[in-house]
Amino acid sequence: MSSIFTKIINGEIPSYKVVESETCFAFLDINPLAKGHTLVVPKKEVDYIFDVEDELYSDLMLFAKKVGKAIEKVVPCERVGVTVIGLEVPHAHIHLIPINGISDMNFAKPKLALDKDELSELAKRMASEFR
Ligand code: 5GP
Repeated sequence: MSSIFTKIINGEIPSYKVVESETCFAFLDINPLAKGHTLVVPKKEVDYIFDVEDELYSDLMLFAKKVGKAIEKVVPCERVGVTVIGLEVPHAHIHLIPINGISDMNFAKPKLALDKDELSELAKRMASEFR
């Protein structure tokens, strides 16, 4: 069965898409730790990030860098934190999170409740950085 992220990539499930490349896809996390929390995934469904083959892994990291730069332009923050967890969704993904301190990377803390309009506006503004 396809992962939830494959369904998002294929447009079977809606998402707040930021940008895609030939091999990778970026969209807002639905339960963000911070405004602008974005997930970057390879289109090819591989569970564990260190099982992603080298060329795609390089693509993913360079793609994440570009997305991180777009986040910085849209969301005021000290920097964009980068982390990989992968315990919930078995499709490799990188979390990009605008942070101002270490506690902003605490996945155990309550997630933000952003409304649809806010998420949509954020994704649009980040997407516009790629035009
Ligand atoms: P992890 O696998 O890294 O532990 O966490 C998976 C992340 O994916 C979580 O931050 C969660 O909020 C996010 N997530 C899970 N399901 C969906 C979904 O259907 N849409 C979006 N946009 N994010 C999701």
